[in-house]
Amino acid sequence: MSDSRETTHFGERRVAMEDKQGLVNAVFHGVADRYDLMNDLMSGGIHRLWKDAMVARLAPPRRGSRPWRVLDMAGGTGDIAERIVNASVGYAEVVVADINSDMLRVGAERAKKWRFPAQVSFVEANAEELPFDSDSFDAYTIAFGIRNVPRIEKALADAHRVLRRGGRFLCLEFSRADVPVLSEVYAAFSDWVIPPLGRVVTGDAQPYQYLVESIRKFPAPAQFSAMIAAAGFKRVTHTAYAGNIAALHAAWKL
Ligand code: SAM
Repeated sequence: MSDSRETTHFGERRVAMEDKQGLVNAVFHGVADRYDLMNDLMSGGIHRLWKDAMVARLAPPRRGSRPWRVLDMAGGTGDIAERIVNASVGYAEVVVADINSDMLRVGAERAKKWRFPAQVSFVEANAEELPFDSDSFDAYTIAFGIRNVPRIEKALADAHRVLRRGGRFLCLEFSRADVPVLSEVYAAFSDWVIPPLGRVVTGDAQPYQYLVESIRKFPAPAQFSAMIAAAGFKRVTHTAYAGNIAALHAAWKL
C-alpha cells in the first residue's frame, strides 16, 4: 500500500484510495470476455429479471415531444442500455459509460446485433468525473456498478449534476440477504460455489472472490439511501429483490 492516509476496501483488503480503481479495473479487464456468461451461470439467469424490473421501473417514453437521453453508468457490456432502447422502441438514446475499455469493447460488439444499435453509444468515463454537461440527461442508471467505484459520494454527486431537474436516478445493486435460511444458503453459495465457478469459466477465482467480498462490504440499503439523499436527491426509496439479495434504489433530482 502507498503512503496515502485515505484508505478504502478492495473486497476484504484495506487499500489506499488511489489504488482501488486500478485493482477493480484489473478484475474487469480479466473477465470481460466471459462476464455475460458468468452472470447467467452465477445467478441462474435471475440478474436478467432484476434488470428487466429496473427498466420497467424507469419506463422510458416511446413517443413525446422529445426522446429521453439516458446515461447508463458503469454500463459494461450494455445489458441495461439494450433493455432501455427496446422498452422505448428505439425512441430513447442511451450513453453507456464505463471506465473499462474491455467491457465497452464487448458491449459495442454485442450492440451490432441489437434491434436499435444506432440509439446506443459507448464512452470510456469515470463515474467520479463525468465528461458530460450539467443537466444533460433525463435519467441515470447504474446496475451492479456503484459498489466498485472508490469514491461513491463523488459518483453520486456527479450523477446529480448531469441529471436535469425532474430526472430519474436508478441504482440496482447487490444488498444483504435478510431472510432466514435463504441468507445462510446464499452465504454458503457465495463462498463455496462462486469463486470456484469463476476459476472454471474465466480461469481465475480471484475476481469472483472480490465480487463476494465487495457485496459484503457494500452499505446496507438504509445507509446507501442516506448517501443518495446526501448527494441532493429527493424521494429516495429502495425495493428489495429476492429476499434483499439485490435492491433497486430510486430517487429524483427535483
Ligand atoms: N452494468 C453492467 C451490468 O449490470 O451487467 C456491468 C456491471 S459490472 C459488475 C461493473 C462495472 O463497473 C464494470 O464494467 C466496471 O468497469 C465498472 N466500473 C468500475 N469502476 C468504475 C468507475 N469508477 N467508473 C465507471 N465504471 C466503473
